[in-house]
Amino acid sequence: MKYISTRNLRNKKTFQEIVMEGMPFDGGLYVPEVWPKVDVVDLRELKYADLAFEIIYPYCSDSISHEDLRNILDNTYKEFHHPKTAPLIDIGQNKYILELFYGPTFAFKDYALQFLGRLFQFLLNKEGKKVAIIGATSGDTGSAAIDAFKLKSNIDIFILYPHEKVSEVQRRQMTTVVESNVHTIAVRGDFDDCQKIIKKIFFDKEFLSKVNISTVNSINWARIVAQVVYYYWSFLQIPKNINKVNFIVPTGNFGNVFAGYVAKKMGLPIEKLHLVTNENDILHRTISNGEMIIKDLQKTYSPSMDIQISSNFERQLFESLDRDSEKLSLIMNSFIEQGSYKLETNIVNKLKEIYDSYSVTDAEILKIIKLYNDKYKYLADPHTATGLSVLEKNDNRDHPFVSLA
Ligand SMILES: *Cc1c(COP(=O)(O)O)cnc(C)c1O
Repeated sequence: MKYISTRNLRNKKTFQEIVMEGMPFDGGLYVPEVWPKVDVVDLRELKYADLAFEIIYPYCSDSISHEDLRNILDNTYKEFHHPKTAPLIDIGQNKYILELFYGPTFAFKDYALQFLGRLFQFLLNKEGKKVAIIGATSGDTGSAAIDAFKLKSNIDIFILYPHEKVSEVQRRQMTTVVESNVHTIAVRGDFDDCQKIIKKIFFDKEFLSKVNISTVNSINWARIVAQVVYYYWSFLQIPKNINKVNFIVPTGNFGNVFAGYVAKKMGLPIEKLHLVTNENDILHRTISNGEMIIKDLQKTYSPSMDIQISSNFERQLFESLDRDSEKLSLIMNSFIEQGSYKLETNIVNKLKEIYDSYSVTDAEILKIIKLYNDKYKYLADPHTATGLSVLEKNDNRDHPFVSLA
Protein backbone atom coordinates (compact mmCIF):
# COMPACT_ATOMS: atom_id res chain seq x y z
CA MET A 1 0.00 0.00 0.00
CA LYS A 2 1.38 3.39 -1.04
CA TYR A 3 0.17 6.81 0.09
CA ILE A 4 -0.31 10.05 -1.82
CA SER A 5 -0.95 13.64 -0.74
CA THR A 6 -4.36 15.21 -1.36
CA ARG A 7 -2.41 18.01 -3.12
CA ASN A 8 0.05 15.89 -5.10
CA LEU A 9 -0.78 12.47 -6.53
CA ARG A 10 2.72 11.74 -7.79
CA ASN A 11 4.80 11.69 -4.61
CA LYS A 12 4.24 8.15 -3.30
CA LYS A 13 5.18 7.16 0.24
CA THR A 14 5.17 4.15 2.53
CA PHE A 15 3.13 3.76 5.72
CA GLN A 16 6.25 4.25 7.83
CA GLU A 17 7.08 7.53 6.06
CA ILE A 18 3.62 9.05 6.35
CA VAL A 19 3.18 8.09 10.00
CA MET A 20 6.51 9.65 10.93
CA GLU A 21 5.93 12.81 8.85
CA GLY A 22 2.32 13.30 9.92
CA MET A 23 1.64 15.83 7.18
CA PRO A 24 3.17 16.29 3.70
CA PHE A 25 5.22 19.43 2.89
CA ASP A 26 2.72 20.57 0.26
CA GLY A 27 0.07 21.45 2.87
CA GLY A 28 -2.21 18.53 1.98
CA LEU A 29 -2.95 15.35 3.89
CA TYR A 30 -1.89 11.78 3.23
CA VAL A 31 -4.43 9.28 1.94
CA PRO A 32 -4.00 5.68 0.76
CA GLU A 33 -3.72 5.19 -2.98
CA VAL A 34 -6.53 2.61 -2.93
CA TRP A 35 -9.07 1.43 -0.36
CA PRO A 36 -8.40 -2.16 0.75
CA LYS A 37 -11.53 -4.32 1.11
CA VAL A 38 -12.26 -6.17 4.35
CA ASP A 39 -15.45 -8.22 4.34
CA VAL A 40 -17.47 -8.28 7.58
CA VAL A 41 -18.58 -11.88 7.15
CA ASP A 42 -15.05 -13.11 7.82
CA LEU A 43 -14.80 -11.25 11.12
CA ARG A 44 -17.42 -12.65 13.49
CA GLU A 45 -16.24 -13.84 16.95
CA LEU A 46 -12.93 -11.95 16.87
CA LYS A 47 -11.58 -10.12 19.92
CA TYR A 48 -11.21 -6.35 19.52
CA ALA A 49 -7.42 -6.50 19.09
CA ASP A 50 -7.73 -9.27 16.48
CA LEU A 51 -10.33 -7.31 14.56
CA ALA A 52 -8.02 -4.29 14.72
CA PHE A 53 -5.32 -6.41 13.14
CA GLU A 54 -7.55 -7.41 10.20
CA ILE A 55 -8.48 -3.77 9.53
CA ILE A 56 -5.07 -2.15 10.03
CA TYR A 57 -2.69 -4.71 8.52
CA PRO A 58 -3.59 -4.01 4.85
CA TYR A 59 -2.54 -0.37 5.41
CA CYS A 60 0.90 -1.09 6.85
CA SER A 61 2.05 -4.51 5.66
CA ASP A 62 5.04 -2.94 3.85
CA SER A 63 6.32 -1.36 7.09
CA ILE A 64 5.45 -3.79 9.92
CA SER A 65 5.51 -7.56 10.13
CA HIS A 66 2.43 -9.59 10.93
CA GLU A 67 3.80 -10.53 14.37
CA ASP A 68 4.96 -7.06 15.33
CA LEU A 69 1.59 -5.51 14.51
CA ARG A 70 -0.22 -8.22 16.49
CA ASN A 71 2.04 -7.52 19.47
CA ILE A 72 1.47 -3.77 19.30
CA LEU A 73 -2.30 -4.20 19.09
CA ASP A 74 -2.50 -6.79 21.89
CA ASN A 75 -0.53 -4.46 24.16
CA THR A 76 -2.63 -1.46 23.15
CA TYR A 77 -6.08 -2.84 23.90
CA LYS A 78 -5.25 -4.93 26.94
CA GLU A 79 -4.99 -1.61 28.85
CA PHE A 80 -8.66 -0.82 28.22
CA HIS A 81 -10.90 -1.40 31.21
CA HIS A 82 -13.96 -3.09 29.71
CA PRO A 83 -14.04 -6.76 28.63
CA LYS A 84 -15.61 -5.72 25.30
CA THR A 85 -13.16 -2.81 24.87
CA ALA A 86 -15.91 -0.76 23.17
CA PRO A 87 -19.30 -2.04 24.36
CA LEU A 88 -22.46 -1.48 22.33
CA ILE A 89 -25.50 -0.53 24.42
CA ASP A 90 -28.93 -1.51 23.07
CA ILE A 91 -31.61 1.01 24.14
CA GLY A 92 -34.39 -0.53 22.03
CA GLN A 93 -36.14 0.42 18.76
CA ASN A 94 -33.03 -0.29 16.72
CA LYS A 95 -31.05 2.34 18.63
CA TYR A 96 -27.57 1.70 19.99
CA ILE A 97 -24.88 3.64 21.80
CA LEU A 98 -21.25 2.72 21.15
CA GLU A 99 -19.28 3.53 24.31
CA LEU A 100 -15.73 4.64 23.56
CA PHE A 101 -14.60 5.78 26.99
CA TYR A 102 -12.73 2.79 28.44
CA GLY A 103 -9.19 3.96 27.71
CA PRO A 104 -6.79 5.42 30.29
CA THR A 105 -7.96 9.06 29.92
CA PHE A 106 -11.66 8.29 29.18
CA ALA A 107 -11.57 10.13 25.83
CA PHE A 108 -12.46 8.15 22.70
CA LYS A 109 -9.13 9.38 21.36
CA ASP A 110 -7.39 6.75 23.51
CA TYR A 111 -8.57 4.09 21.01
CA ALA A 112 -6.29 5.60 18.36
CA LEU A 113 -3.59 7.35 20.39
CA GLN A 114 -2.66 4.39 22.59
CA PHE A 115 -1.97 2.57 19.30
CA LEU A 116 -0.10 5.53 17.81
CA GLY A 117 2.21 5.81 20.85
CA ARG A 118 3.27 2.18 20.55
CA LEU A 119 3.52 2.41 16.76
CA PHE A 120 5.82 5.43 16.97
CA GLN A 121 8.07 3.76 19.49
CA PHE A 122 8.28 0.65 17.31
CA LEU A 123 9.11 2.57 14.11
CA LEU A 124 11.65 4.81 15.88
CA ASN A 125 13.44 1.84 17.43
CA LYS A 126 13.62 0.25 13.99
CA GLU A 127 15.24 3.38 12.54
CA GLY A 128 17.28 4.26 15.64
CA LYS A 129 15.82 7.78 15.57
CA LYS A 130 14.40 10.37 17.98
CA VAL A 131 11.35 12.52 17.33
CA ALA A 132 9.50 15.48 18.79
CA ILE A 133 5.74 15.10 18.67
CA ILE A 134 3.74 18.32 18.56
CA GLY A 135 0.00 18.74 18.80
CA ALA A 136 -2.82 21.17 19.51
CA THR A 137 -5.73 20.28 21.74
CA SER A 138 -9.05 21.55 22.97
CA GLY A 139 -8.74 19.06 25.83
CA ASP A 140 -9.24 15.42 24.92
CA THR A 141 -6.40 15.02 22.42
CA GLY A 142 -3.80 16.51 24.76
CA SER A 143 -4.64 14.32 27.72
CA ALA A 144 -4.89 11.20 25.55
CA ALA A 145 -1.66 11.98 23.66
CA ILE A 146 0.31 12.71 26.80
CA ASP A 147 -0.80 9.43 28.33
CA ALA A 148 0.07 7.58 25.12
CA PHE A 149 3.58 9.09 24.79
CA LYS A 150 4.78 9.55 28.35
CA LEU A 151 7.52 7.07 29.26
CA LYS A 152 8.28 6.43 25.56
CA SER A 153 12.01 6.66 25.01
CA ASN A 154 13.09 8.47 21.80
CA ILE A 155 10.07 10.78 21.97
CA ASP A 156 9.52 14.29 23.32
CA ILE A 157 5.94 15.49 23.30
CA PHE A 158 4.82 19.16 23.14
CA ILE A 159 1.11 19.90 23.56
CA LEU A 160 -0.47 23.33 23.01
CA TYR A 161 -3.83 24.03 24.63
CA PRO A 162 -5.99 27.19 24.83
CA HIS A 163 -5.50 28.86 28.21
CA GLU A 164 -8.66 28.67 30.37
CA LYS A 165 -10.58 26.92 27.58
CA VAL A 166 -10.13 23.30 28.65
CA SER A 167 -11.87 21.54 31.53
CA GLU A 168 -10.17 21.56 34.91
CA VAL A 169 -9.88 17.76 34.90
CA GLN A 170 -8.06 17.86 31.58
CA ARG A 171 -5.87 20.78 32.56
CA ARG A 172 -4.70 18.62 35.45
CA GLN A 173 -4.35 15.49 33.29
CA MET A 174 -2.01 17.51 31.06
CA THR A 175 -0.08 19.69 33.52
CA THR A 176 0.51 17.34 36.45
CA VAL A 177 2.48 14.70 34.53
CA VAL A 178 5.98 14.27 35.96
CA GLU A 179 7.70 12.47 33.07
CA SER A 180 10.48 14.65 31.67
CA ASN A 181 9.61 13.99 28.00
CA VAL A 182 6.22 15.73 28.39
CA HIS A 183 5.96 19.51 27.71
CA THR A 184 2.53 21.14 28.03
CA ILE A 185 2.11 24.75 26.84
CA ALA A 186 -0.88 27.06 27.48
CA VAL A 187 -1.62 29.48 24.61
CA ARG A 188 -3.62 32.72 24.98
CA GLY A 189 -6.25 32.17 22.28
CA ASP A 190 -8.56 29.39 21.18
CA PHE A 191 -8.02 25.92 19.71
CA ASP A 192 -7.70 27.24 16.15
CA ASP A 193 -4.86 29.55 17.28
CA CYS A 194 -3.05 26.51 18.69
CA GLN A 195 -3.67 24.57 15.49
CA LYS A 196 -2.37 27.47 13.38
CA ILE A 197 0.96 27.40 15.24
CA ILE A 198 1.28 23.69 14.52
CA LYS A 199 0.41 24.19 10.84
CA LYS A 200 2.92 27.04 10.52
CA ILE A 201 5.66 24.77 11.79
CA PHE A 202 4.81 22.24 9.09
CA PHE A 203 4.99 24.93 6.40
CA ASP A 204 8.48 26.05 7.53
CA LYS A 205 10.68 23.81 5.41
CA GLU A 206 13.94 25.30 6.63
CA PHE A 207 13.04 24.62 10.26
CA LEU A 208 11.77 21.15 9.41
CA SER A 209 15.00 20.26 7.64
CA LYS A 210 16.86 20.76 10.94
CA VAL A 211 14.56 18.84 13.29
CA ASN A 212 12.70 15.55 13.35
CA ILE A 213 9.15 16.50 14.16
CA SER A 214 5.76 14.84 13.83
CA THR A 215 2.18 15.36 14.94
CA VAL A 216 -0.53 13.49 16.77
CA ASN A 217 -3.45 15.58 15.59
CA SER A 218 -6.05 13.54 13.78
CA ILE A 219 -4.39 14.50 10.50
CA ASN A 220 -2.03 11.58 11.19
CA TRP A 221 -3.29 8.71 9.06
CA ALA A 222 -2.50 6.06 11.71
CA ARG A 223 -5.12 7.61 13.97
CA ILE A 224 -7.85 7.48 11.35
CA VAL A 225 -7.13 3.87 10.55
CA ALA A 226 -7.29 2.84 14.22
CA GLN A 227 -10.72 4.50 14.46
CA VAL A 228 -12.07 2.47 11.54
CA VAL A 229 -11.93 -0.58 13.80
CA TYR A 230 -14.83 0.34 16.09
CA TYR A 231 -17.19 0.97 13.18
CA TYR A 232 -16.70 -2.65 12.13
CA TRP A 233 -16.74 -3.74 15.77
CA SER A 234 -20.14 -2.20 16.52
CA PHE A 235 -21.66 -3.69 13.37
CA LEU A 236 -20.47 -7.11 14.55
CA GLN A 237 -21.90 -6.58 18.07
CA ILE A 238 -25.45 -6.12 16.80
CA PRO A 239 -27.03 -9.49 17.59
CA LYS A 240 -29.52 -9.67 14.71
CA ASN A 241 -28.85 -10.26 11.08
CA ILE A 242 -28.59 -6.85 9.52
CA ASN A 243 -27.56 -5.68 6.10
CA LYS A 244 -27.18 -1.92 6.70
CA VAL A 245 -26.24 0.32 9.59
CA ASN A 246 -26.27 4.07 10.29
CA PHE A 247 -23.78 5.93 12.46
CA ILE A 248 -24.26 9.18 14.33
CA VAL A 249 -20.95 10.92 15.01
CA PRO A 250 -20.32 14.03 17.15
CA THR A 251 -17.82 15.94 15.00
CA GLY A 252 -15.07 18.52 15.38
CA ASN A 253 -11.96 18.00 13.28
CA PHE A 254 -13.78 15.48 11.03
CA GLY A 255 -11.38 12.67 12.00
CA ASN A 256 -13.82 10.31 13.66
CA VAL A 257 -16.56 10.62 11.07
CA PHE A 258 -14.02 10.31 8.25
CA ALA A 259 -12.97 6.97 9.76
CA GLY A 260 -16.62 5.97 9.23
CA TYR A 261 -16.28 6.92 5.57
CA VAL A 262 -13.14 4.78 5.33
CA ALA A 263 -15.05 1.84 6.86
CA LYS A 264 -17.71 2.32 4.18
CA LYS A 265 -15.08 2.37 1.41
CA MET A 266 -13.57 -0.82 2.86
CA GLY A 267 -16.90 -2.59 2.54
CA LEU A 268 -18.83 -2.05 5.79
CA PRO A 269 -22.47 -1.66 4.72
CA ILE A 270 -23.11 1.85 6.05
CA GLU A 271 -26.34 3.48 4.92
CA LYS A 272 -25.57 7.03 6.10
CA LEU A 273 -23.09 8.82 8.32
CA HIS A 274 -24.92 11.42 10.40
CA LEU A 275 -22.47 14.06 11.51
CA VAL A 276 -23.42 16.32 14.38
CA THR A 277 -21.80 19.65 15.28
CA ASN A 278 -22.49 21.98 18.18
CA GLU A 279 -23.11 25.70 17.57
CA ASN A 280 -19.79 25.80 15.70
CA ASP A 281 -21.66 24.51 12.69
CA ILE A 282 -19.41 25.12 9.68
CA LEU A 283 -19.51 21.43 8.73
CA HIS A 284 -23.31 21.39 8.97
CA ARG A 285 -23.53 24.46 6.71
CA THR A 286 -21.00 22.95 4.29
CA ILE A 287 -22.87 19.66 3.93
CA SER A 288 -26.33 21.19 3.82
CA ASN A 289 -25.67 24.00 1.32
CA GLY A 290 -21.98 24.17 0.44
CA GLU A 291 -21.24 27.22 2.62
CA MET A 292 -17.71 26.80 3.88
CA ILE A 293 -17.66 30.07 5.84
CA ILE A 294 -15.55 30.56 8.97
CA LYS A 295 -17.42 32.34 11.77
CA ASP A 296 -16.25 33.40 15.24
CA LEU A 297 -15.62 30.46 17.50
CA GLN A 298 -18.31 29.88 20.15
CA LYS A 299 -17.42 28.40 23.51
CA THR A 300 -19.91 25.57 24.17
CA TYR A 301 -20.58 22.72 26.59
CA SER A 302 -18.82 20.40 24.14
CA PRO A 303 -15.36 22.02 23.84
CA SER A 304 -13.77 19.12 21.92
CA MET A 305 -16.11 20.05 19.08
CA ASP A 306 -15.39 23.82 19.25
CA ILE A 307 -13.65 23.96 15.90
CA GLN A 308 -14.10 26.11 12.78
CA ILE A 309 -11.42 24.68 10.50
CA SER A 310 -11.84 20.90 10.38
CA SER A 311 -8.53 19.63 9.04
CA ASN A 312 -9.74 16.21 7.97
CA PHE A 313 -12.53 17.61 5.83
CA GLU A 314 -9.84 18.11 3.20
CA ARG A 315 -9.63 14.32 2.87
CA GLN A 316 -13.37 14.10 2.23
CA LEU A 317 -13.32 16.95 -0.28
CA PHE A 318 -10.50 15.20 -2.12
CA GLU A 319 -12.68 12.09 -2.33
CA SER A 320 -15.79 13.99 -3.37
CA LEU A 321 -13.76 15.75 -6.09
CA ASP A 322 -12.85 12.31 -7.46
CA ARG A 323 -9.28 12.88 -6.24
CA ASP A 324 -8.70 16.00 -8.35
CA SER A 325 -5.76 17.46 -6.39
CA GLU A 326 -5.53 20.65 -8.47
CA LYS A 327 -9.15 21.59 -7.90
CA LEU A 328 -8.74 20.72 -4.22
CA SER A 329 -5.70 23.01 -3.88
CA LEU A 330 -7.67 25.87 -5.48
CA ILE A 331 -10.58 25.41 -3.08
CA MET A 332 -8.40 25.09 0.03
CA ASN A 333 -6.21 28.08 -0.83
CA SER A 334 -9.23 30.25 -1.47
CA PHE A 335 -10.92 29.01 1.73
CA ILE A 336 -7.85 29.71 3.89
CA GLU A 337 -7.10 33.12 2.30
CA GLN A 338 -10.67 34.45 2.27
CA GLY A 339 -12.20 32.49 5.14
CA SER A 340 -14.95 31.24 2.86
CA TYR A 341 -15.72 29.14 -0.18
CA LYS A 342 -19.03 28.21 -1.75
CA LEU A 343 -18.94 24.61 -2.93
CA GLU A 344 -20.53 23.83 -6.27
CA THR A 345 -23.88 22.01 -6.20
CA ASN A 346 -22.54 18.80 -7.72
CA ILE A 347 -19.95 18.54 -4.92
CA VAL A 348 -22.58 19.22 -2.25
CA ASN A 349 -24.80 16.53 -3.74
CA LYS A 350 -21.94 14.06 -3.60
CA LEU A 351 -21.36 14.88 0.07
CA LYS A 352 -25.07 14.40 0.76
CA GLU A 353 -25.02 10.90 -0.68
CA ILE A 354 -22.73 9.94 2.21
CA TYR A 355 -23.55 12.35 5.03
CA ASP A 356 -26.51 13.89 6.80
CA SER A 357 -25.62 16.82 9.03
CA TYR A 358 -27.05 18.47 12.13
CA SER A 359 -26.18 21.24 14.55
CA VAL A 360 -27.17 21.14 18.22
CA THR A 361 -27.34 24.10 20.63
CA ASP A 362 -26.21 24.11 24.26
CA ALA A 363 -29.87 24.38 25.36
CA GLU A 364 -30.71 21.22 23.38
CA ILE A 365 -27.70 19.45 24.90
CA LEU A 366 -29.05 20.07 28.40
CA LYS A 367 -32.53 18.90 27.40
CA ILE A 368 -31.23 15.69 25.87
CA ILE A 369 -29.01 14.85 28.86
CA LYS A 370 -32.09 15.13 31.09
CA LEU A 371 -34.28 13.14 28.68
CA TYR A 372 -31.84 10.22 28.44
CA ASN A 373 -31.38 10.19 32.16
CA ASP A 374 -35.16 10.12 32.78
CA LYS A 375 -36.20 7.84 29.91
CA TYR A 376 -33.30 5.38 29.63
CA LYS A 377 -31.39 5.90 32.93
CA TYR A 378 -28.45 6.79 30.69
CA LEU A 379 -26.15 9.59 31.80
CA ALA A 380 -24.45 11.21 28.81
CA ASP A 381 -21.70 13.83 28.60
CA PRO A 382 -22.40 16.93 26.46
CA HIS A 383 -20.45 15.68 23.41
CA THR A 384 -22.30 12.36 23.46
CA ALA A 385 -25.57 14.24 23.93
CA THR A 386 -25.21 16.02 20.57
CA GLY A 387 -25.32 12.59 18.92
CA LEU A 388 -28.13 11.33 21.16
CA SER A 389 -30.34 14.22 20.07
CA VAL A 390 -30.18 12.79 16.55
CA LEU A 391 -30.59 9.21 17.78
CA GLU A 392 -33.78 10.26 19.60
CA LYS A 393 -35.27 11.52 16.32
CA ASN A 394 -34.95 8.12 14.67
CA ASP A 395 -37.70 5.86 16.04
CA ASN A 396 -38.44 2.47 14.48
CA ARG A 397 -36.22 2.74 11.47
CA ASP A 398 -35.60 -0.30 9.26
CA HIS A 399 -31.87 -0.22 9.88
CA PRO A 400 -30.04 0.18 13.20
CA PHE A 401 -28.66 3.54 14.30
CA VAL A 402 -25.45 3.58 16.33
CA SER A 403 -24.52 6.80 18.12
CA LEU A 404 -20.86 7.18 19.15
CA ALA A 405 -20.34 8.12 22.82
C1 LIG B 1 -12.19 14.91 19.65
C2 LIG B 1 -13.59 14.78 20.08
C3 LIG B 1 -14.65 15.00 19.20
C4 LIG B 1 -14.42 15.41 17.78
O1 LIG B 1 -13.83 14.37 17.04
P1 LIG B 1 -13.15 14.66 15.64
O2 LIG B 1 -12.48 13.41 15.27
O3 LIG B 1 -12.20 15.80 15.87
O4 LIG B 1 -14.26 15.04 14.72
C5 LIG B 1 -15.93 14.84 19.66
N1 LIG B 1 -16.18 14.45 20.94
C6 LIG B 1 -15.20 14.22 21.79
C7 LIG B 1 -15.54 13.80 23.18
C8 LIG B 1 -13.87 14.37 21.41
O5 LIG B 1 -12.88 14.13 22.28
